[in-house]
Amino acid sequence: MTATDFASEAQAAPYQDAIREIFVHYTATEEGIDFSMRDVADWHKEKEWLTTGYHYLIRLDGRVEPGRPEDKQGAHVKGRNEGTLGIVYVGGLIRSGDDLIPGNTMTDRQEEALIDLLDDLQIRHPNATIKGHNDVAGTPCPGFNVTDWLDAIDEARPSQLPATSDVKRIVRVVAAIIRKGRKLFR
Ligand SMILES: [Zn+2]
Repeated sequence: MTATDFASEAQAAPYQDAIREIFVHYTATEEGIDFSMRDVADWHKEKEWLTTGYHYLIRLDGRVEPGRPEDKQGAHVKGRNEGTLGIVYVGGLIRSGDDLIPGNTMTDRQEEALIDLLDDLQIRHPNATIKGHNDVAGTPCPGFNVTDWLDAIDEARPSQLPATSDVKRIVRVVAAIIRKGRKLFR
């Protein structure tokens, strides 16, 4: 798939405005091996299970490559592509002998980039909840529990608050704004 094909495919996708969910995915590739958004687009020709429909890809060194524009519907979660965004990090499979086992293979740079990207997206789409592909489908993708991972990085979340998903989401948006502010003044 050429860049032009990729752009025209994004053009053909339906327009979307209100984002309700942001999904985290893995590329289902062995840890430590890097791929680009272009590679993922090329794979689609050969492997139906890898789609070109992500909005962002995070490489091993933390570089974020854009895919589909945010205002175009993606193709990353069956039946839930409308009003959602898809982020994919490169990796997700750990070698164990002859087997490849799903797990969180994010490098420190990938994790930092994902947190940073999610902060940006939450500020721009404050009504969106962040989920893993495995929260809504029978897949190990992205190799870890996204809610547990988010809880672990939300140091700003007051423990006394009722842990409803709405409160969590609002607190996360505030925490994202605080983190962004800290970075600006560092
Ligand atoms: Zn996925």
